[in-house]
Amino acid sequence: MADATDATGATATPAPPEADPVGTSLLAVRCPWCLADDDRVVDSRMAEDGAAIRRRRQCSDCGHRYTTFERIDEIPLMVIKRSGMRQLFDRGKLIDGLRSATKNRPVTEEQLEVVAREVEEELRVEGWEATSEQVGLAVLEQLRVVDEVAYLRFASVYKGFEDVDDFRREVGLLTKTTAPKRPEA
Ligand SMILES: [Zn+2]
Repeated sequence: MADATDATGATATPAPPEADPVGTSLLAVRCPWCLADDDRVVDSRMAEDGAAIRRRRQCSDCGHRYTTFERIDEIPLMVIKRSGMRQLFDRGKLIDGLRSATKNRPVTEEQLEVVAREVEEELRVEGWEATSEQVGLAVLEQLRVVDEVAYLRFASVYKGFEDVDDFRREVGLLTKTTAPKRPEA
């Protein structure tokens, strides 16, 4: 858990919108020394390579200075498509894709949610960007355990299968019980 000095806003009460116009003023953070709720920002600068904003604050009551950091709460996961375009990872869209891959298969909606969540978590562990290929492989890894038919259906879409040989190769991989081939990241 973060301590009081770096939890920007955690102890501050939200002011009415008119009183705190966006971009013009900052809420105070409770002073860790005297607990007064009245400070002023004496310095703001980029930190952590632009991922955070560091603010030096000075308590208007006791004069002590302290630092707060402002960071994005949940870093968005970006997917880099083959074309080079970046898109926000969309769990709902992934579930839609999983739903059609598992159509008429004994797979519950709940399992699809789990697969999508596992995929997202796995990608987040590796960073805040993933290629669409990485997404596809992460999905396949999960689907393989859930339902083999769905795995093959999804593989045919994600790997861009062109003919029956591709399918055969994939079935071969499946029956070997080894994980799908995964390029070294
Ligand atoms: Zn103080």
